[in-house]
Amino acid sequence: LPPDPAAGAAVKAADRAHVFHSWSAQGLIDPLPVAGAEGSYFWDYDGNRYLDFASQLVNTNIGHQHPKVVAAIQEQAGKLCTLAPGFAVDVRSEAARLIAERTPGDLDKIFFTNGGAEAVENAVRMARLHTGRTKVLSTYRSYHGGTAAAIHLTGDPRRWASDTGAAGVVHFWGPFLYRSPFHAENEAQECERALAHLEQTVAFEGPQSIAAIILETVPGTAGIMVPPPGYLAGVREICDRHGIVFILDEVMAGFGRTGHWFAADHFGVTPDLLTFAKGVNSGYVPLGGVAINAEIAATFDQRPYPGGLTYSGHPLACASAVATLNAMAEERIVENAAEIGEKVIGPALREIAERHPSVGEVRGLGVFWALDLVRNKETREPLVPYNAAGADNAPMAEFAAACKRGGLWPFVNMNRTHVVPACTVTEAEVKEGLTALDEALTVADAHTV
Ligand code: PLP
Repeated sequence: LPPDPAAGAAVKAADRAHVFHSWSAQGLIDPLPVAGAEGSYFWDYDGNRYLDFASQLVNTNIGHQHPKVVAAIQEQAGKLCTLAPGFAVDVRSEAARLIAERTPGDLDKIFFTNGGAEAVENAVRMARLHTGRTKVLSTYRSYHGGTAAAIHLTGDPRRWASDTGAAGVVHFWGPFLYRSPFHAENEAQECERALAHLEQTVAFEGPQSIAAIILETVPGTAGIMVPPPGYLAGVREICDRHGIVFILDEVMAGFGRTGHWFAADHFGVTPDLLTFAKGVNSGYVPLGGVAINAEIAATFDQRPYPGGLTYSGHPLACASAVATLNAMAEERIVENAAEIGEKVIGPALREIAERHPSVGEVRGLGVFWALDLVRNKETREPLVPYNAAGADNAPMAEFAAACKRGGLWPFVNMNRTHVVPACTVTEAEVKEGLTALDEALTVADAHTV
């Protein structure tokens, strides 16, 4: 379609009239009116096309408007739009089967929610009822969602305003060698010290009071810190020794993002509960859920599970999940994420890091990469202070603006930019995006000392 700035202005004015936006000062935001999207791109009404290196909020794993998924939603809409969770319905059962087939180990029962936070809420509830304990341990540098228990578990500053009455949540430090909380010099040390710290936290909190430990398998928004070898197995062992439920939050890392169906597959670790959302159907219709192991599922064989949602297992959402998971298998989309990460994105980002004084570290796997931007490579001082806003955040805001001028829609969080395109991204698209990123990084370089 030809550019139509007047239509874009009308869309924006209508938004500003009545839409109340997430995480924002309503008077300070300027939402971009979007006219359409396809594959790795979306475009505005002014004739600008953006390569979506953020996959929206890291959810469009199969890209925008995948024809098979669009057709499945249309077909299901013609057949049966909605049905209460208490009924048996073909697409819900099939979605559950396809998810259970892919989740590790005996995570074979699926409780459906509308998104990631509700999945975390229900996983925590299951763990508390299963163990009869209340405390839940989670890491700083994490995000688990915006609802009550999920926001308390969150380790990043989005928690602070909602931190009243955080019943039973205890935060600890996960491993992160580049900014090691343990002054470690290598991955083995970081792993050993992080596990000792967790072991001590458990001991001092009282193991008999801890229902669950929840971790993002690879923490996403907080910086894509791939855990060192042995760390997740060590947490699994601590949980087993103390009868603590191990929850892995794969809302962002799951369904192909890391180049496996689940990030847990990289580490050979099976949690007791696994939360998912986002990539399960690329967010075409809101969907999330909890995959539950046999032991916890059995807790609720004779005893009612005290939780539910009107739209749990919504037919349109489930139909889109079935089509998504089948398309991902047929089109080798998870394999593409693995290959393009290993052969193209990783090497190119490492080369970019060598040339730019502002790139302190590159880390990631699959289509899940972070560039840690710094004022100085030696000191590793972050390009902007932790949780910076306004003028303090100007270097990152300028960097993001430069990306957008270059036709690249970046994911930016604190002093980091994440390269998180669709799992379907092509080599040519990656090269186009990295050329724009390379150019925009000169803006960040100007802030180095
Ligand atoms: N857990 C993780 C790891 C996430 O990344 C997110 C969202 O970014 C959530 C939970 C919350 O999911 P939702 O926004 O669908 O509620």
